[in-house]
Amino acid sequence: MSTIHSKTDVILIGGGIMSATLGTLLKELAPEKEIKMFERLSTPAEESTNAWNNAGTGHSALCELNYTKENKDGSIDIEKAIKINEQFQISKQFWSHLVKKGQLDHPESFIKPVPHMSFVQGVKNVDFLKRRVKQLNKNVLFSNMEITDNKEKIAEWTPLIMEGRTSHVPMAITYDKTGTDVNFSALTKKLFDNLADKQVELNYKHQVEDLKQRKDGVWEVKVKDLTSNEVKIYESDFVFIGAGGASLPLLQKTGIKESKHVGGFPVSGLFLVCRDEAITKKHLAKVYGKASVGAPPMSVPHLDTRYIDGKRTLLFGPFAGFSPKFLKTGSNMDLIKSVKPNNIITMLSAGVKEINLTKYLISQLTLSNEERMEDLRTFVPNAKSEDWEVVVAGQRVQVIKDTESGKGTLQFGTEVITSEDGSLSALLGASPGASTAVDIMLDLLKRCYKDEFSNWEGKIKEIIPSFGQRLSENEALYRQVNEEIKQNLKID
Ligand SMILES: Cc1cc2nc3c(=O)[nH]c(=O)nc-3n(C[C@H](O)[C@H](O)[C@H](O)COP(=O)(O)OP(=O)(O)OC[C@H]3O[C@@H](n4cnc5c(N)ncnc54)[C@H](O)[C@@H]3O)c2cc1C
Repeated sequence: MSTIHSKTDVILIGGGIMSATLGTLLKELAPEKEIKMFERLSTPAEESTNAWNNAGTGHSALCELNYTKENKDGSIDIEKAIKINEQFQISKQFWSHLVKKGQLDHPESFIKPVPHMSFVQGVKNVDFLKRRVKQLNKNVLFSNMEITDNKEKIAEWTPLIMEGRTSHVPMAITYDKTGTDVNFSALTKKLFDNLADKQVELNYKHQVEDLKQRKDGVWEVKVKDLTSNEVKIYESDFVFIGAGGASLPLLQKTGIKESKHVGGFPVSGLFLVCRDEAITKKHLAKVYGKASVGAPPMSVPHLDTRYIDGKRTLLFGPFAGFSPKFLKTGSNMDLIKSVKPNNIITMLSAGVKEINLTKYLISQLTLSNEERMEDLRTFVPNAKSEDWEVVVAGQRVQVIKDTESGKGTLQFGTEVITSEDGSLSALLGASPGASTAVDIMLDLLKRCYKDEFSNWEGKIKEIIPSFGQRLSENEALYRQVNEEIKQNLKID
């Protein structure tokens, strides 16, 4: 027997960074809204948002080479790099505002300055990196980026990369001191604590099983209490599906027309981790390399300083893999169950098109630990197997949909799918992900609260001074905003 609960304004499904961000924004802009959150696990931030499940990079295109494409004429397109950087500036302004207002304390527990670097080898790649930096340096967002091909300087910036290196292959490395490492789980937990203080009802060990929209537009959300096994129906005017990899199956249950012809392909990940202080203290940077042929953009290898559970560690990876689960704690039936009559052609078309990805995943799946160590040694020549262990990272479910470039196109970005009446929104995909959460959620609010949004704009500008403007085109505003961010987030 299900009992019906009184209607609420907003239901957030999932206790990750996305729900935490949306809830916090809503409470800033419309404090009167009543919000309920349902999470199937016993604590927040245990899936992709958990610090061990993602790479913790505050994505700003200061090191990720896949955000700048080389055009056929040899010029370098930096538009995507600018967009990603601007999105992270929005996140930082929002967190800085919350710190200033006393809603987030100890910012050093979730964000730390860690230089971002790109590392390449070989004449062609060195030439590309030099042209890339020249182009980026013209923009204020990237004006701090330095580059060197001098091996002594490289050793000064990243000792571990040069120790024991005997190869004479040309190499180059960039250095940007404004990079960050973000502990998204620490941040998310703080945001939820803050939401609890604002009377948001946080329901852990509660799994959403079904969603139906009534004729009057209200959503009925069927929730199972995993402690008592009791099933209840909750009513809401607006629902956000922020269930990470599991957003796709929940979206399919809504039956909305926007949920058709969409599929998902899970890609799992592994990191190598080193906790030995004698080694970790020699490296303070996030160093991104170049992706192998066929590798999805998020599988670019990188060597990262991380601050997790109060300790400084080194992570290398991610190595990609395949698991049919949509969540790390999901079921082996997730992929099969997501194939429906309306998306089977979409899914099959993607299978045919993405041969390089399939080959890449098979090659990654068959890697032995010693082969993974060999990959690591292209970054850290002296790495010893006994100092590194394998940890399983989070699951990403890449969106497959029909686009202008044909049926079944694999998407590597983040997709927000919204019902026509704006009463439901689902977040699919995972990259660049958590770093861009605030911008993504502002965009979602604009789509779903069309009438209220124009009234909120003044308040948003107070919270995020660059809202509606491009910092990349306004150096004075960039400098002003960044002074404030540096002070409040203690990332000078
Ligand atoms: C290997 C890897 C590396 C990454 N690196 C970075 C990085 O360096 N920088 C970056 O910015 N981003 C990175 N990301 C992406 C980032 O982690 C994600 O974009 C972000 O954490 C997604 O947050 P979320 O809230 O959407 O999902 P999640 O954190 O996965 O949260 C979803 C929640 O929903 C819950 N849930 C699921 N189904 C139900 C249900 N039916 N009922 C109730 N609750 C449910 C889950 O238990 C989970 O807690 C990485 C991701 C991966 C996997």
